[in-house]
This record gives sequence, C-alpha cells and structure tokens, in this order.
Amino acid sequence: MEGWGSTKTERRKDAGGKHSPKEIEDLLAIQGGRCIYCNVRFTKRVPATKDHLLAVRQGGADWSFNLMMACRSCNSRRCDIPFRTYCKLLSPTQNKRILRHISNRILALDFEGLNAKAFILFMRGLAAHEPQHWRYKDVQSRRALARRNAAQNRLLPLSIVWEVFRTKQTILRTELRTETRKLKQEIKRVQAKNAAIDDKL
Ligand SMILES: [Zn+2]
Repeated sequence: MEGWGSTKTERRKDAGGKHSPKEIEDLLAIQGGRCIYCNVRFTKRVPATKDHLLAVRQGGADWSFNLMMACRSCNSRRCDIPFRTYCKLLSPTQNKRILRHISNRILALDFEGLNAKAFILFMRGLAAHEPQHWRYKDVQSRRALARRNAAQNRLLPLSIVWEVFRTKQTILRTELRTETRKLKQEIKRVQAKNAAIDDKL
C-alpha cells in the first residue's frame, strides 16, 4: 500500500510493469519525435520525458503501453489530470493529432507480444475522465484559451480504439489468407513432387 511519504520513484516501483529502451525509441518514432500534447520537436534542450497515460498514483504501470512521450512543461502541467480530461484543454488541432497518434499506436501493435494486463491499463487510462479534477479547473481559471478549448472540445471518443482494432483485424485476416494460400500451393508442389518420385519407383 502506498504510504503518505512515498516518493514518485517508490510509487513507480510499486506500479510494476517495465519497458525497454527500444520500446521508447519506437514510441518516439510513432510520435515523430514530438511531444504528444504540444507537438514541439524534442531536442537536447527540450528533452522527451515519459508521461503516464494512467497516472502512477491511479494504478498506472510502467509498461510502454501506458507511456506517452511529452515535453517537460506539458508533462508537469498535466500532472495527474486524467488523459482525456487534460486533452479537453488543448486545441481542436491537437486533439485531432492525439487521436491519430492513438490509431497509429494500435496499428503498430504486435498482437503476438500483446500483454493483456498492459492493454487493460491502456484502456483504463484512456477511459478515465474527471471534469471535477481541481487541477483541470485550476488551469481553466488561469488561462482563457484553455477555458475556451474545454468548452468547445468534445471528449476524445473511445470508439476510435474499437474502429482501429477492426481495421487491424481485417489487415491480419488478409495476411492470414495470403499465408494460407501460399501454404496450400507449397503442399500441392510437394505432393506433385512426391507423386513424380512414386511414379519412378
Ligand atoms: Zn509539450
């Protein structure tokens, strides 16, 4: 259980899950080397930081699936505001880009290596919405643009996840059909070769 005095590092250790440097590299590639929220290009002076989709405080783990790459200032501004709630404060263009990023993320998924626990966390992280979050209200009280965005933006739709999944399934089914056809042709070739050998015997 989490004690009052526990540090962020300790909480992260409790949360479980792990990711490799390669997964972070892939993540950066999918995001085009840019911050998920403000789209700034990462450089030495603006380094990429790991932002948890489902905050560690709310049970989010360190699986790469629960991570988004963000610049330091976006990361600290969001802090523990749920992901979708925070997105409401951003511009409609940013919201569109984030939605596209989520699609790309699912399309790039390796189904064989899919960790069910990490995926459930991903969905939980996406689903969370807390319009009463004090920090969400606080950002709006201090920034007119954020207030306008929050009033105008629709909440990021969760249906996108299922739509992309269906697309992904269609792609996989087509691949499977092609592979099956190739395999059948191969079997036929081997059978014909064997028949030819039988004839000679
Ligand atoms: Zn940023």
